Amino acid sequence: MSFAAVTRQGARYARFAQLRCFSSTPKTSAAAEVKKLGVIGAGQMGLGIALVAAQKAQLPIKLVDTSQASIDKGLKFANKLLEKDVGKQRISQDDATAARERLSTSTNIDDLSDVDFVIEAVPEIPDLKTKIFSQIAQICPSHAILATNTSSISITRIAAATTTDPTDLSAPSRVISTHFMNPVPVQKGVEIITGLQTSQNTIDTAIELCKKMGKIPSKSADSPGFLANRILMPYINEAIICLETGVGNKEDIDSIMKNGTNVPMGPLQLADFIGIDTCLAIMKVLHEETGDSKYRPAVLLRKMVDAGWLGKKSGKGFYDY
Ligand code: NAD
Repeated sequence: MSFAAVTRQGARYARFAQLRCFSSTPKTSAAAEVKKLGVIGAGQMGLGIALVAAQKAQLPIKLVDTSQASIDKGLKFANKLLEKDVGKQRISQDDATAARERLSTSTNIDDLSDVDFVIEAVPEIPDLKTKIFSQIAQICPSHAILATNTSSISITRIAAATTTDPTDLSAPSRVISTHFMNPVPVQKGVEIITGLQTSQNTIDTAIELCKKMGKIPSKSADSPGFLANRILMPYINEAIICLETGVGNKEDIDSIMKNGTNVPMGPLQLADFIGIDTCLAIMKVLHEETGDSKYRPAVLLRKMVDAGWLGKKSGKGFYDY
């Protein structure tokens, strides 16, 4: 058989193995019970995930971040959100206190040794994510589900980082993506993305946890950008190209899309909320992994990251905050 034929056959098998995970045939595996959740990264996504899990799924959470400043900022924000909910009579003061008490924090990743499920939400840097997964495969119990909130990095690749022996699936089969949308307390959608190694029990447990958090899971194949960002990021990137080539100013670009497609904000404001660095990281993955020039990141997007104008989180993006 020629090399090309072998490669085609391998690709067909990989595709079959992946589609198997998305078949509608009922599976016998039952979701495992999650009694304690770990969240890595107390930034805008990690904090939101931890808060929603504490409120809706009523789970004890261990929130880990290497930066104490990020933890302090995150907890302050969580308190503000809880007080807002109390003020609007969406929850009682007792509910807010109980949710707050379910959140404990640490700057030491070793403190995740007793969680049943961990969700990683550190910056979109492939080497950082793979390093963390190789660590948590050792630290967390051998039954724990290891989930990532990555916007674009291959789940198969992240799962592979949990072992040095590709034939040993004990850790890689527990890796999955629960890709929450921003802002987590508001957006109901979660993408569930499986790697080639992910087991059915891992899928069932992740879906069950997301439902307990009040979310609506959708499944996506492990393909660059998955579903949400494969569609959303080229839209934002095109808006930035329209700005840099003078097709419209930022107000007009945002206004026509906001008022013309009935969405809460236009693409440039949305990019500020997502984080300009996150948008660039996702466009780079789409561009590099597909090799398709239609995903070329806008020049202005790169320049804004160089300038440190990362959007709302840095106080300056397309708009000032
Ligand atoms: P962020 O920059 O707001 O927060 C990242 C946090 O991780 C920071 O608090 C940082 O201190 C912490 N961190 C860095 N290195 C760490 C380490 N080694 N261990 C523990 N903590 C560490 O980022 P974010 O916007 O919350 O994004 C997190 C992830 O979620 C990324 O993968 C991103 O692609 C994805 N995501 C983001 C959005 C969005 O709209 N921002 C939406 C969906 C998914």
